Amino acid sequence: MRGKIRVLPSMPSVSASSSPVRLKFWGTRGSIAVPGPETLRYGGNTTCLELRADGEIIVLDAGSGIRPLGVALQKEFQQRPIKLSLLITHAHWDHIQGFPFFNPAYDPKNEIRIFGFDGAGATFREIMTEPMRSPFFPITMRELSAKMDINKLSEMKLSLGKVDVHAAFVNHPGVCAGYRIFTSGGSIAFLPDHEPYECFLHAARGKQLSPKQAKEIAAAQHAALVQFLRGSDILVLDAQYTDQEYKTHVGWGHGSISSAVSLAFEAEVQTLLLFHHDPSHDDDMVDTMVKSARELVEKSGSLLEVAGAKQGSEILLEAKKIAAA
Ligand SMILES: [Zn+2]
Ligand SMILES: [Zn+2]
Repeated sequence: MRGKIRVLPSMPSVSASSSPVRLKFWGTRGSIAVPGPETLRYGGNTTCLELRADGEIIVLDAGSGIRPLGVALQKEFQQRPIKLSLLITHAHWDHIQGFPFFNPAYDPKNEIRIFGFDGAGATFREIMTEPMRSPFFPITMRELSAKMDINKLSEMKLSLGKVDVHAAFVNHPGVCAGYRIFTSGGSIAFLPDHEPYECFLHAARGKQLSPKQAKEIAAAQHAALVQFLRGSDILVLDAQYTDQEYKTHVGWGHGSISSAVSLAFEAEVQTLLLFHHDPSHDDDMVDTMVKSARELVEKSGSLLEVAGAKQGSEILLEAKKIAAA
């Protein structure tokens, strides 16, 4: 299906011309939510980003951060309908568990279209609806009163109004996508969960591949990913582990500080946001990891900007400035 583009109409909720393109982080944590005094600055909620671009509201993943996003949208829109597109990277809990608590889904005037790929052993529809079935949750997806549209992706390119979205499969257990979103303010690549191909090839699991074959496939997949990311203005990337921690977490599906920085260098991105913070890392630990990433950049003489993604922070794409909320 490569090359085919799925074109979807705009869902204008916000003025396309007057608002700048902005990206807001509602959840930055990996694996499980960890609220508390030790995670106040980088945040305890799991993955959820909100992108306002060219008249569209695009939400990336539905971790626990989607709950406060829903509250904020309702406050902003009041009696006006909320129309948005939700892109899901994969079925792991930390990327979908907040959806049943997304209040706009319970209001008949709202329209929500959800996109994602079939998972390992489950269709995309099952991924979104099964966790809301009894006995796991008291209200089913069918009972939600908003106009819901669940779309299985089979194409690697789609357009949402004037915003183009490209997808790529990344290196993570099961099926996991990354997205690159092209807006009038620049492009944002979102790879919340990804392990460097050269360290562990998930696609080789259970297959009879020789080390040489696995190495060749890993190199080809890595090169394709670099091409996919090349020249991104913003790269939001899995950097869950320190380099030391990664040594004992090979095959867990996540990246390290040096692998994240090296992928950003190779793909010539402008700004790298370290993401999917480990639940056992407090704010000071994430500060230390950001510092070590910046040291790698300094040593290389590159102009790459690096920061740790912070819950509540916003990036205005025109200005390329990270503003605290
Ligand atoms: Zn995750
Ligand atoms: Zn995952």
